Amino acid sequence: TASLLSIDNLSVDYEMKAISLRAIHDISFDLLAGQAVALVGESGSGKTTTAMSIAGLLSPNARVNGGEVRYRGTRLPINDDAAMRPYRWSEISVVFQGAMNALNPVHRIIKQIAEPCMLNGMSRDDARARARELLELVGIPADRGASYPHELSGGMRQRVMIAMALACSPSIVIGDEPTTALDVINQAQVLKLLVELRSKFNLALLLITHDLSVVAETCDRVMIMYAGRIVEDGTVAEIFAEPKHPYTRLLIESIPSPAKDKRIIRPIPGDPPTLVKRPSGCPFHPRCPSAMSICMIEDPQLERCGQGRVACHLHRSLRQADKVPVHA
Ligand code: SF4
Repeated sequence: TASLLSIDNLSVDYEMKAISLRAIHDISFDLLAGQAVALVGESGSGKTTTAMSIAGLLSPNARVNGGEVRYRGTRLPINDDAAMRPYRWSEISVVFQGAMNALNPVHRIIKQIAEPCMLNGMSRDDARARARELLELVGIPADRGASYPHELSGGMRQRVMIAMALACSPSIVIGDEPTTALDVINQAQVLKLLVELRSKFNLALLLITHDLSVVAETCDRVMIMYAGRIVEDGTVAEIFAEPKHPYTRLLIESIPSPAKDKRIIRPIPGDPPTLVKRPSGCPFHPRCPSAMSICMIEDPQLERCGQGRVACHLHRSLRQADKVPVHA
């Protein structure tokens, strides 16, 4: 399958008053048509910046400092809001988290779903008909289209967001923590809906989440981000069966499950690095149970390993002197 979206060596900084902070550094990956990929990380890991770069929705103080994003071979003008318009909705669309903030409270939902269609040249009547069809598609009776956002449940509002994202038949849908604000039951239903729609329309899905447990049933491939970089990339099966990066391993161990004894679930020790204070060498070394002397000095590059990629010195051949344990 050809690559639909290619991200090559993308780096993005945030310009603050006196300083510039690197949010993502040298991110490279391909998204294939119909593929579902999760981007997983704690807050500040760069996952949302990566997603918003692709959608051309970076905040005004963000600056693309290197690299590029190509869609079907064409370089996307990700830094130019107006130039991105032809791509947004009709090629790449976003399901934002927290539908209550993303939806306009004073407009009926049918109008909000019809809007992207009209922006893409549909007549008002056609757009309304399409909106009714989309509501049914996401499991909301078309008559509910006359409701205002506050008249719907949280789960239904998130379904409205999905309907909006699909309105102009995009090839790529980015889900930015699309189920985070929902209770467990609604979360499962909305994820199920995304999975169904994805196969029905052969959508490529880029799912941004801090929660590795939502990935297993939804995605084919997972990329783990830490401190602005991809630290591991592999198939869901590989990552869950045999995580290579110590951070991935800790993330998997910290997923609660009914089968696990609650006492042995440990949160990952230490705090995630902030953009301001990035540790030297491998940025995970202060929290890593396997950290070695070299880890404090040299930042490991993302390299091929088995079927996937990993950025960790444990997976390289090292000199004996580089292997002295740090936290022993
Ligand atoms: Fe841990 Fe070192 Fe691997 Fe970083 S490079 S994850 S500190 S073992």
